[in-house]
Amino acid sequence: MMFYKFFTLKRGFFFICFLFFTVTNGQTIRAQESEFTLGTVCVVNLYERGTNELYRKIFRRIREIEEIMSANRAGTDLDRVNKQAGIMPVHVREELLYVVERALVYAQSSGGAFDPTIGPLVNLWGIGGDAAHIPGEKAIQDALSLVNWRDLIVDRQAGTLFLKRPGMALDLGAIAKGYAADEAARIIKEARIPGAIVDLGGNVFAYGEKEGSKPWRIGIQDPLENRGTFVGILEVRNKTVVTSGVYERFLQVGGKRYHHILSPQTGYPADTGLLSVTIIADRSIDADALATAAFALGYHAGRILVESVGGAAAIFLFENKTIRGTAPAMANFSLYNQGYRILP
Ligand code: ADP
Ligand code: MG
Repeated sequence: MMFYKFFTLKRGFFFICFLFFTVTNGQTIRAQESEFTLGTVCVVNLYERGTNELYRKIFRRIREIEEIMSANRAGTDLDRVNKQAGIMPVHVREELLYVVERALVYAQSSGGAFDPTIGPLVNLWGIGGDAAHIPGEKAIQDALSLVNWRDLIVDRQAGTLFLKRPGMALDLGAIAKGYAADEAARIIKEARIPGAIVDLGGNVFAYGEKEGSKPWRIGIQDPLENRGTFVGILEVRNKTVVTSGVYERFLQVGGKRYHHILSPQTGYPADTGLLSVTIIADRSIDADALATAAFALGYHAGRILVESVGGAAAIFLFENKTIRGTAPAMANFSLYNQGYRILP
């Protein structure tokens, strides 16, 4: 009897071992996965700890956010809000309310330099798309008259969004990737992965630490060089690093570059003497909004805005190849390209 029991226990043990190995073998561990979503190449690297299942879960979540918040796809919650502009409030998912509320916080604190109702201008310029062109002055003024975050009404109780005037349009291109990166980081944390890199087209979440308790080293793109050429390196631990710059999407006409961050004041690409702004922060939704806001505001006002947000730091690259940054950012930055000069 005793012997029999022992035998079945042992057999059971081996059977469980067998199951465990086949299951883990079935979920091939992958170093990294990438997918084209949110209008960009999204890369997630779980450093030898990623199962297929976990990668699938992360990318499914990112696609889900795109399906709610994209301005370029018919039928998203955001698209429904735009179609009902000036007509009626639209019931949307709670997470869209959350992202819009964060966007409005930055619209207010940037004095409107960041504006989630920038849609009519973005559509008019079409930068990054096949129809990109320099619009006529009249068209720019018409589109500008439809941009105003104060005419975007959030009703938390009813769970609705409403654009007050016909022709208005939401565009969360400056903040949705940040939210998606936060969501990816949340899933990674829940899976108890100690360190990972989430890179949603340059919107980076350097989650946790690198193997051996080392900081992550994040390259800062040289806006004047090919993609992957860095001005310098930032060392961070469990932070998000987000850059907004002239190089991401642009239209080149007669030697002049028209980039995709538009000024809600002028209707033209924001021209503040900057090549890029990099934000280091705890939450990517804040970093994404801050990077765009600070770029649109320019160095002085942008720096004041960044320093008003707890845990946020910034590095500004100027057209004259100088670099300035807040103290916590510069303390972790090493310059690679000696063609740039760091100013105090
Ligand atoms: P990236 O797309 O390179 O991550 P940003 O986060 O700076 O860059 O977002 C730029 C996008 O945000 C534009 O493509 C457009 O959709 C939108 N946008 C442009 N200008 C503004 C602005 N002043 N305020 C808010 N959103 C903007
Ligand atoms: Mg942004």
